[in-house]
Amino acid sequence: MHKKEAWKTYDAAALEELEALSVRYRDFLDQGKTEREVVRYITARAQALGFKTLEEARAAGGVKPGDRIIRSRMGKILMLAVIGTDPMEKGMNMVGAHIDSPRLDVKQNPLYEDGGMAYLDTHYYGGIKKYQWIATPLALHGVIAKKDGTVVPVCFGEDPSEPVLVISDLLIHLSGKQMEKKGSVVIEGEDLNVIVGGKPLEGAKDDEKDAVKKNILKLLKDRYDVEEEDLLSAELEVVPAGHARELGLDASMILAYGQDDRVCAFAQWEAVLQIENPKRTCLALFTDKEEIGSVGATGSESRFFENTVAELMDLAGGYSELALRRALENTCVLSADVTAGFDPIYAGAFEKNNAAFIGSGIGINKYTGSRGKSGSNDANAEYLARVRKCFDEAGVDFQLAELGKVDQGGGGTIAYIVANYGAEVVDCGVALLSMHAPYEVSSKADVYEAMKAYRAFYRTMDR
Ligand code: MN
Ligand code: MN
Repeated sequence: MHKKEAWKTYDAAALEELEALSVRYRDFLDQGKTEREVVRYITARAQALGFKTLEEARAAGGVKPGDRIIRSRMGKILMLAVIGTDPMEKGMNMVGAHIDSPRLDVKQNPLYEDGGMAYLDTHYYGGIKKYQWIATPLALHGVIAKKDGTVVPVCFGEDPSEPVLVISDLLIHLSGKQMEKKGSVVIEGEDLNVIVGGKPLEGAKDDEKDAVKKNILKLLKDRYDVEEEDLLSAELEVVPAGHARELGLDASMILAYGQDDRVCAFAQWEAVLQIENPKRTCLALFTDKEEIGSVGATGSESRFFENTVAELMDLAGGYSELALRRALENTCVLSADVTAGFDPIYAGAFEKNNAAFIGSGIGINKYTGSRGKSGSNDANAEYLARVRKCFDEAGVDFQLAELGKVDQGGGGTIAYIVANYGAEVVDCGVALLSMHAPYEVSSKADVYEAMKAYRAFYRTMDR
């Protein structure tokens, strides 16, 4: 069993670096609470740091070793590349994380009034315990796309001076029947209705129908210049309101929404920025829709990764269909996704010898899946040995882990999808407590080790 306390290995310089990283991490979480916001955050910073779009690279006559390239699609999936001296056909080093998180999506016909209050109806996205999302402050993030082509950004409920939204709970005094229910139905999906208003439109008549809703429509018009029917083509995500916080009397952890999987996305972003003139081309993939099966044009099941590599090879002057197939097959991949941290309060769900511990370094899952490893990419032993060597040589603290006890449940990541190209891939990410809850827990030490792990992988992984 490979396990040591990451914290005990740090000198003053390392601790300083770790704390500085943690400050940037919290800013990343605060500014990137949706997949669109993460793409916007990375794009702005990457372009300022000299990353060029494919079009810019083409105009400049192609790509050469050392060049930094950025490509995104639909504002939700993104790839960064640092071009290496080796031809891409010999393979690349890629780290891939997802930037979508479980949440409540606003429906397309969402706004209604009942009991003198206005509500937005939602449809939950990803795996959630629905009862965790009520009686807690919520914010609204996303876009409203209008027919004239304008796209109105929405971010409401984050500034401390701004109101928040909430879903109400039933008072305990009347909850006799509710408390008898199974956890999965204590709060039902159709009851995830967000309170957005409680005051009638100014000047409304005493018996005027939907006066509270009309007032909300007026506010939407004044604030965003949209009509009710513009909500038909909106993507609005309801997420926990407020900022990422340090956690613990010792401030050793982070409590925040959306750390699955923005903790790995952040670590790979920080890692790829430190790569200059690599031997093998380094890729950082930030993908969407993982929480609902990696489907759609912005999910990992799409051709985005493959198409982007084809574009890069074309710009480098080495594209052919066969060269592309070889490049994909020869690529080494870390599927950077979170894993379950051992939780002593729920110890019965874990098998201690094969659990990841918070603060004990980055977790490696040879396999995920459920039951008899069903649905898992089971990484090759030979590849694991190479990853282990790479981490050991760079002084990265890591631990081999399973998601939980056999037959306790299970989960998956994007590993099996890139494995379809014949590429070597293993799951490798930060352990969390309360994964998929509105506020998830990570250790600052594990965020730091994740950055170091991905950086080492970019620098030294080779075939
Ligand atoms: Mn994940
Ligand atoms: Mn997840």
